[in-house]
Amino acid sequence: MAKIYKNLINGKYVASSSGKTYKNINPANTSDVVGIFPLSEVSDVNKAVDAAKKAYQIWKRVPAPQRGEIIRKATEILIARKEELARIMTREMGKVLKETRGDVQEAIDTGLYAAGEGRRMFSFTVPSELKNKMAFVIRRPMGVWGVISPWNFPMAIPSWKIFPALLCGNTIVCKPATDTPASAGEFVDALHQAGVPDGVVNIVYGSGSKVGEALINHPGIAGITFTGSSQIGKRIAEVCGKTLKRCSLELGGKNAEIVMADADLDLALDGVLWGAFGTTGQRCTATSRLILHEKIHDKFVNMLKKRTEALKIGDGLDEKNQVGPCVSEAQRQSVHSYVQIGLQEGAKLLCGGKPLKTGKNAKGFFYAPTIFTNVTPEMRIAKEEIFGPVLSVLKVKNLAQAIKVLNNTQYGLSSSIYTKNVNDSFRAIEDIEAGITYINAPTIGAECHLPFGGVKETGNGHREGGWTVFEIFSELKTVYVDYSGALQKAQIDTWD
Ligand code: NAP
Ligand code: MG
Repeated sequence: MAKIYKNLINGKYVASSSGKTYKNINPANTSDVVGIFPLSEVSDVNKAVDAAKKAYQIWKRVPAPQRGEIIRKATEILIARKEELARIMTREMGKVLKETRGDVQEAIDTGLYAAGEGRRMFSFTVPSELKNKMAFVIRRPMGVWGVISPWNFPMAIPSWKIFPALLCGNTIVCKPATDTPASAGEFVDALHQAGVPDGVVNIVYGSGSKVGEALINHPGIAGITFTGSSQIGKRIAEVCGKTLKRCSLELGGKNAEIVMADADLDLALDGVLWGAFGTTGQRCTATSRLILHEKIHDKFVNMLKKRTEALKIGDGLDEKNQVGPCVSEAQRQSVHSYVQIGLQEGAKLLCGGKPLKTGKNAKGFFYAPTIFTNVTPEMRIAKEEIFGPVLSVLKVKNLAQAIKVLNNTQYGLSSSIYTKNVNDSFRAIEDIEAGITYINAPTIGAECHLPFGGVKETGNGHREGGWTVFEIFSELKTVYVDYSGALQKAQIDTWD
């Protein structure tokens, strides 16, 4: 029996006001229904925002260390339920169990980091230019934040946003991706069970066009934190711009791994396999391009083909499998249409290039890991995000050309270079246009206590993760305390 989920509004589980629901199915086995979810209306969003506004008046006054304590309790629930939650996530999203355990672990790490931050929330104290006067800066919460998340990290991404937003004293209304609502629902339930006051965390399930739009347009919302495509990100920035709502955007990527002639090729090979085909290529940081030095190009391509064709594709619940399905049929079709584009553009198909629809894969949205060689920088498959198991290989003559090719995209999230040359690696760190650069490691593998985000059309300058995420969810207040008993005038009074 599929579990029936309900919206959480003002501390109560309730159906959508229309009573409508939708089924969330397993992309590896479409006859497995993971859960039944409310299909919510604008009025459900309005109720949730009202509850969050009321709860904000209480939550903002709870000392940050106490808020951290509730976050720690929620994290302990996630720790206790880790395996169960990973299994739910594999069933709803498709990625293999090792990866969904990692996704839950990322939420756990983020929770523990945020809980500790409750006792820090560092800001600044600086001297005043006047006598008998002190100056310092404190962090203040902002109000109700709308949280809109994608389907590829169904728990980690909501946790990156919700834990720090709550720690700062804000209240939340979240709308998870339609394809992966269960993981977000279980995450929010952990906070509910841990004792967050009613209305502090609310979840409203439903479509981006209805629930998402209602959230971003709601005047009672102080800020929107969004992870998803650049296309929807631009729409959100436009709407938030009209009322000057703060919005933090984590958007698409077209990440590349460079392999230089002096690199450890086995290491680089492990890196690109994991980067390109882990999570079925459905990571914002996935390796979508491989930029090979001409001296090792042919050898490396041969090594890569062999290992790629040996990857085990199948249901992520079976621990033997290494690559799961695409999240949906629509996603699989979008991947396949990019493969057609690559062929039309004249790239050479080295392996894959087709949906897998037979035998044990017949009931899922599987796609063969695909590699194109002879890709040139201006081809669409070299520039646009594909978000599936498709890797484009480009050949270059030297480091300068490699970096130029890498930068030739509208995105700038993650990047990687394999080389033993220290000068080349530092040149790459300086010249690559990306929010993240890995040296001798794949494009994926971010740690929760470091800033995460990208440049160009990957975002709008905010950084989740680390200490920087607390800057997203708080306003700075500058405080001057004058204990001179006299009117002192900055810039005017003399210093004697
Ligand atoms: P998406 O289509 O942009 O959707 C993301 C979220 O926005 C979903 O919850 C979606 O709801 C909602 N939404 C859709 N239209 C909306 C609207 N008009 N107003 C408000 N919300 C709306 O992205 P996706 O396909 O789920 O995820 C894949 C994308 O996310 C890729 O581009 C990937 O690179 C990016 N991503 C970026 C990062 C990063 O940190 N930079 C991390 C992970 C993923 P529905 O589900 O109901 O459509
Ligand atoms: Mg699903």
